[in-house]
Amino acid sequence: MSDAAHKAMWEKLDLDIEAHDGLLAVLGKFYGDIYLSQEGRLKGAEYLDFVLSEVHGLRIKEIQDAKAAGKKVVGTFCVFVPEELTLAAGAVQVGLCAGAKAGTELAETLVPRGTCDLIKSFVGFKLARLCPYTESCDLIVGETTCDGKKKAYEAFSQLANMHIMEVPQCKAPCDMTLFRSELVRYKEALETLTGNAITAAALAEATKVVNAKRRALQRLSALRAADPAPISGRDALLINQISFYDDPVRFTAKINELCDEIEARVAAGQGVAPKKTPRLLLAGCPMAVPNWKLPYLIESSGAVIVGEESCIGERNTRDLTDETPADLDGMLDALAARYMQIDCACFTPNDERLDNIAALAKRLNADGVVHYGLLFCQPYAHEAMKVGKAMTAAGIPYLAIETDYGMEDAGQLKTRVEAFVETLA
Ligand code: SF4
Ligand code: SF4
Repeated sequence: MSDAAHKAMWEKLDLDIEAHDGLLAVLGKFYGDIYLSQEGRLKGAEYLDFVLSEVHGLRIKEIQDAKAAGKKVVGTFCVFVPEELTLAAGAVQVGLCAGAKAGTELAETLVPRGTCDLIKSFVGFKLARLCPYTESCDLIVGETTCDGKKKAYEAFSQLANMHIMEVPQCKAPCDMTLFRSELVRYKEALETLTGNAITAAALAEATKVVNAKRRALQRLSALRAADPAPISGRDALLINQISFYDDPVRFTAKINELCDEIEARVAAGQGVAPKKTPRLLLAGCPMAVPNWKLPYLIESSGAVIVGEESCIGERNTRDLTDETPADLDGMLDALAARYMQIDCACFTPNDERLDNIAALAKRLNADGVVHYGLLFCQPYAHEAMKVGKAMTAAGIPYLAIETDYGMEDAGQLKTRVEAFVETLA
């Protein structure tokens, strides 16, 4: 696409062109410094570079073309929103979580200052007219997970057409019943939006598509157990981030190709860092594009990241939806069962997360766990303490970090990470 065509498309979406140009310039520089500077990258990383270079270009054009052909676009902020139902309704689903400090002052006119940057970022992107995905959405789905999000959605619903899905905070049978009924309510909202009835055949097909995407990401995760690490944590995080934007069928094919290349690399004993480089599992809050600060600091401090225990990572891909039910009721039961396994810190109790982190660290041959919490995020700050105790009990070295999207603390964080990595070497 030409620059003029990009600009015309963004103008049509009513973006603030000048501010948006500034954002893309910063993103491009950041990407060059953090990604393109890496050595020993896979050939398949060209796909990642291309998607990122066109993240506000060709992908948005595809979405606009789909809209012109009558498709609806649904935006989400949480892995509790089942893509299976969205696809079964013939709609496109895109993730709207944002990982950049932009529009903060504007955001603070709508949400309190003491709100995490993930929330401030998506509110700021909307108010500053910076995100072509948000502006392409016909419906945005919020969920009652943390307090920060659910109150922010109240304010955000003044700006966008929203559907709020209730996600329970416990996992008793009555909570499962509640979530199952919320799936039905979401299904009905999609049917109203698109004019398409969600049939058993459509849901079965959509479930296969979403499971195939998860299987490709599971395959990638399994390959990362190898020493030397065959792919950097930065590239693996980017793959997980792109999984929320790109067309799911194309994404799956590309990631499987990339895994073929990684398999050959593992068989040849090759990697992105020498064998015995300290291996870290990153756990905690989701990291949305372009929140690459901590992975970059870790991987420039003599360690390699081998897994992400987060919603932009394992929490989103670990569990498959059962494909065996033949009727719609059975399929909705299967969806409820699959999604209620998500071990988000918004649940109480949430002890399975502690076991899952320890098991993941073991499976990936990690030497330590770094817990990442966003400033002002209560659920993950509480769990950082519990995870610390559980890792100590399991004999796994542990470092808890709380930060935000700013770069002011980068030097201090690097010193802490380097000191931690030294203890592992
Ligand atoms: S951390 Fe919790 S609220 Fe955030 S995306 Fe994951 S499941 Fe949703
Ligand atoms: S990072 Fe924490 S506070 Fe922010 S949206 Fe996620 S769960 Fe809520």
